[in-house]
Amino acid sequence: MSVAEQLDQEGLTQEEEFQIFETIDKWLERDVRPVVKKFDHADEYPHEIVEQMKELGLFGAIIDQKYGGLGMSASTYAKVVMRITEVWMALTGIFNSHLIMATLVQRFGTDEQKQRFLPRFATGELRGGLGLTEPNAGTDLQAIRTRAVLDGDHYVVNGTKTWISNGIEGSCYALMTKTDTQVKPAHKGISFFIVEKGEGFTVSKRLEKLGYKSIDSAELVFDNFKVPANNLVGGVEGQGFYQAAGGLEIGRINVAARGVGLASAALKDATRYSQERETFGKPICQHQAIQLMLGDMATKVEAARLLVENAAQTYDRGERCDMEAGMAKYFASETAVQVSLDAMRIHGGYGYSKEFDIERYYRDAPLMTIGEGTNEMQRIIIAKQLIARNPA
Ligand SMILES: Cc1cc2nc3c(=O)[nH]c(=O)nc-3n(C[C@H](O)[C@H](O)[C@H](O)COP(=O)(O)OP(=O)(O)OC[C@H]3O[C@@H](n4cnc5c(N)ncnc54)[C@H](O)[C@@H]3O)c2cc1C
Repeated sequence: MSVAEQLDQEGLTQEEEFQIFETIDKWLERDVRPVVKKFDHADEYPHEIVEQMKELGLFGAIIDQKYGGLGMSASTYAKVVMRITEVWMALTGIFNSHLIMATLVQRFGTDEQKQRFLPRFATGELRGGLGLTEPNAGTDLQAIRTRAVLDGDHYVVNGTKTWISNGIEGSCYALMTKTDTQVKPAHKGISFFIVEKGEGFTVSKRLEKLGYKSIDSAELVFDNFKVPANNLVGGVEGQGFYQAAGGLEIGRINVAARGVGLASAALKDATRYSQERETFGKPICQHQAIQLMLGDMATKVEAARLLVENAAQTYDRGERCDMEAGMAKYFASETAVQVSLDAMRIHGGYGYSKEFDIERYYRDAPLMTIGEGTNEMQRIIIAKQLIARNPA
């Protein structure tokens, strides 16, 4: 039975959630874990695994069941992301920005846009991601230069996007543009479009990276690219900045959950290795220096997990959760960086070897401090919310 068939129309029961986890765990052990090193070291796109992800319904994980998605809550989704990341972090990037795009349509799109796009997003027939960043603007999105100018029944788009995950293998993107360059404040001139690849839309560069291998990151160029006016998300110009804030909450929960999954994998490997490796006549886990590291690592992983659960539950209650998602993303990603380094120390020279997974965790972890808003920005968001929620 496919995962979709295991669901009823009322959302997920605990039993159904358990079945999903069991199905995903079996898939990870049978089809993913044995090939991770091969794909990661060759930096090769895992086409067959992506087909299996379609079958599992992962491209529709948080899309409503009425549009053919699995209708997972953010809490269930975060647990799925943690499980997958424990085996291979890069896989979660293949559906993360795709699902941010879907969330933008689901939360802010017109009924016609929901009917037109969500069923195809849910099956993975139409896959892609999110186009925000430009060569001159990442954190400061008000400074984007990509222009969309209305011309009859379509807009003409010109500009360049960079670092776009799934930019080569995907075919459809939520594209952030400027529809008004004069309005003040500048963010009121920002609008999202759902754009499918076509004439005037080219992939200009594949970007090489330290880690996060196998998933494609690309520079995209729009040269007099025509997009139908009815692909303007929500049908009204100037809403893009506000829509991005809503879409990125789920993206931050995803990245935070990735941090927990990766740190948890590094901790498990280190815990096992510390009992197997002996120095001076005893397993290294009996040396206090190693115990201090393991104690710190385990505490941080658990704290990060609880922060992610709290952020996801706040999201599921329909409450504003930028502070909670920001805290979870900040703490979990820093935990992933620290714990993967500590796991490397515990493994000694073997931690630096390509025969073990530790070196991959170490290469993959820093991305999570950057993506979906840098950790510097998360701390600023947390502080602003702290002050707003606690006026003197
Ligand atoms: C592997 C990878 C995948 C990515 N995938 C995508 C994707 O799919 N779609 C997409 O749109 N983008 C993507 N990005 C881009 C990513 O979102 C940006 O790199 C990120 O938002 C930071 O922007 P920037 O690189 O321009 O850094 P900058 O904005 O130039 O920041 C540089 C430094 O300055 C700090 N800084 C900036 N402004 C402030 C401030 N006001 N106060 C304090 N500190 C500040 C930052 O925190 C950072 O430390 C990806 C990036 C990578 C590396």
